Amino acid sequence: MDIASLTIGQVQAGLGARAFSAVELATEALRFADAENAKTNAYLSFSPERALAAAQAVDEKIARRVDPGPLAGVPVAIKDVILTKGLMLTCASRLLEHYIPPYDATAIVRLEQAGGVILGKTNCDEFAMGSSNENSAFGCVRNPVAPDRVPGGSSGGSAAAVAQGTAVVALGSDTGGSVRQPASFCGVVGVTPTYGRVSRYGLTAFASSLDHIGPFSKTVRDSAVLLRVIAGRDPADSTSASAPVPDYTAALDGTVNGLKLGLPREYLKDLTSETGDLIARGVEVLKKLGCEVRDISLPATEYAIATYYIIATAEASSNLARYDGVRYTFRSGNSGTLSDMYRNTRGEGFGAECKRRIMLGTYVLSAGYYDAYYLKAQRVRALIARDFAQAFQQVDAIIAPVSPFPAFRLGEKVNDPLAMYLSDIYTITGSLAGIPCMSVPCGKTTEGLPVGMQILTRHFDETTMFRLAYAFEQGRV
Ligand code: GLN
Repeated sequence: MDIASLTIGQVQAGLGARAFSAVELATEALRFADAENAKTNAYLSFSPERALAAAQAVDEKIARRVDPGPLAGVPVAIKDVILTKGLMLTCASRLLEHYIPPYDATAIVRLEQAGGVILGKTNCDEFAMGSSNENSAFGCVRNPVAPDRVPGGSSGGSAAAVAQGTAVVALGSDTGGSVRQPASFCGVVGVTPTYGRVSRYGLTAFASSLDHIGPFSKTVRDSAVLLRVIAGRDPADSTSASAPVPDYTAALDGTVNGLKLGLPREYLKDLTSETGDLIARGVEVLKKLGCEVRDISLPATEYAIATYYIIATAEASSNLARYDGVRYTFRSGNSGTLSDMYRNTRGEGFGAECKRRIMLGTYVLSAGYYDAYYLKAQRVRALIARDFAQAFQQVDAIIAPVSPFPAFRLGEKVNDPLAMYLSDIYTITGSLAGIPCMSVPCGKTTEGLPVGMQILTRHFDETTMFRLAYAFEQGRV
């Protein structure tokens, strides 16, 4: 078996033909992931006992001729902001270095019920804040396609693991682009479902009104399979939606004839020319497949970054208040008085980016500034959502770049937070509107760097998004 290139379908075929057992596959996947990890630092920890127990359960079901589930035996990597009972959860922060969660996230429960095999936890930016994975307390991740470059962030480890082939699929989290942007940088598929589609129960909170769990995979089909498994109402998350979850794979038939697509002119302005060319070529492929493409405008786009960095930091400053040296693992050794403990624990525990955001968020929520910043940002968020709603009266899907540029060099933007924030200029709008969006590989630059194309659709219309992405994936080859 060529472990690095496996898809869910190939795992199923292999198990069905008894070419390998789930335990054999898990054993080989763990060995391979461990051996390859030095190249990328994608994994922070491995979970061999849990993986082998899950694989064993799959083999037993197969032996008893019981359906082992749509993810039977599939090796999965999990971003280390998603809770897994009994396995270390760090959020790539010193503050949680030895923290062992007492319960599983709902997405994890569903994934394992479907036969998925969790290999380990992946590296990311600290508390999912970043666009390059350089904000991890446990070292950066290298892009498997170009090791001197970043894999994107914040779910850089999950994207790198799938690109490297050390996991068949992975889960990440996306607040402003953290699944789509690393997927684009690493040349894999990454999906941000509709807000509320997947339960956030057990996802460490960064900005609760924007946080999503989403899949990474090599193929569109695999993300469709994985999303269906983890999606759906969960009583443990009051913002999870009760909208029925369709079988997304039923839409993967290659037909997109007559679909109306919008190209927002605000998204094509600041592109490096190669990214722009690749997106333009992608649009030609979609036209050849029978899609009707028209220019549209989303005028509130220019306010997106400012809006996001007010709302996300405000929510983060509140969510991160819990890391105070009392409830979680890390406490400063210099904790003589209560306020010393708070101050020193947070001062020593958080990295620079988290501190920057806590300060900014606290400021925009403070008396006297709340109306001027936070409330105003909420109003602009509504305008951004309205832009999309109006566009979707004319078109079925929107096509856009994921990032203005391909993967940049390690160290290139670390000292310039504002330049780093611009990485998310095209992904943040979809997050603020809460609509489904994904990155699908769209080609490579002359230097061989992957570029992703973004597809955005109406709330809860992941079906059209997958239909289009699949047709594009097949039509490109
Ligand atoms: N890069 C964005 C940020 O730093 C998005 C992060 C995310 O989606 N988790 O906030």
